[in-house]
Amino acid sequence: MKAMVIERYSEQLQLRDLPDLEPGPQDVVVRVRSNGICATDLKMIDGLVSTVTLPHILGHETAGEVTSLGHEVRGLSIGDHVTVYPTHGCGYCDACRTGFENHCLDAPRTGFEIDGGYSQYLVTRGRNAIKIDSNVPFEEASVLPDAVAAPYHGLVQRAKVTGGETVVVIGVGGLGVHAVQIALIMGARVIAVDVTEDKLKAAEEFGAESVLAGGDDSPSSQVKALTDGKGADIVVECVGGEGVSGILDDCIKCLKLGGRLVVLGYAYGQPLSVDSAELIYGQWSILGSRASTLQDVVEVVKLTESGRLKPVVTQRFPLEKANEALDMLRNSSPLGRIVLTS
Ligand SMILES: [Zn+2]
Ligand SMILES: [Zn+2]
Repeated sequence: MKAMVIERYSEQLQLRDLPDLEPGPQDVVVRVRSNGICATDLKMIDGLVSTVTLPHILGHETAGEVTSLGHEVRGLSIGDHVTVYPTHGCGYCDACRTGFENHCLDAPRTGFEIDGGYSQYLVTRGRNAIKIDSNVPFEEASVLPDAVAAPYHGLVQRAKVTGGETVVVIGVGGLGVHAVQIALIMGARVIAVDVTEDKLKAAEEFGAESVLAGGDDSPSSQVKALTDGKGADIVVECVGGEGVSGILDDCIKCLKLGGRLVVLGYAYGQPLSVDSAELIYGQWSILGSRASTLQDVVEVVKLTESGRLKPVVTQRFPLEKANEALDMLRNSSPLGRIVLTS
């Protein structure tokens, strides 16, 4: 099978021919048809994720067809279309037993500590391969476990968004375009902020009530003007990167009394600072949101199958062109996801 492999940090991935994969008793082998590219992949290439060992195959947003399966796997058959939940929770710790595999301290992840979907095939546990209707295109199915389920986890499980609340989405990229949709499905009104016009247009098309052009000035005064001077119930930060500290300052200024900030975009070494008095008197909740749970992925699969949620993929590259796709992500911040197809 062909795969794009990280052999040395900060260098181009190498196209390699690797031996075929065999499933263990509880595993499935998936013929990868689409794999989404995430900004975290760039961090792994740069050697910033300490749990990764080389050589490594990236890819934690994968969909494809089951081609073989171990004898203990239930509920899946050869030919089924699946999307792959990356976290292999141990199943035995308190976190796993209460449904929070994303908190499991002993959980290797597909595309991080386990080889992922920058490949024609991958092997995963049957439990992590979630069946999805064959009407959903592979490219849309592939981005569900991360680009869609991560904002779902942030908004639904962490911020517990409810109907009628005002949600400000900062950054309408791969995560934010789905945050807009999820907030609307949950009955919130959405204000979207971005620096580029096409992303604001997309947010509007998906149903955002107001869109604001971000830039040098904080959007807080406009957010306050749109909320009777109060501020937003929830702000979701979906930008990350080196400028994230300044963006988080702006996010905090948009919060109403009792508001919640969900942080989805990040960069190593970039702090979030908040005046302790303002935090107390504002009664703000600052919510880190770590990836997603299996339950989140099951729910976004159902929302997608029913047509209520539309995973947004804007660029496609063949697997062999992974380096070009990664360069595009590094040098721009596209609306929706870039995927690799094979
Ligand atoms: Zn990711
Ligand atoms: Zn566990």
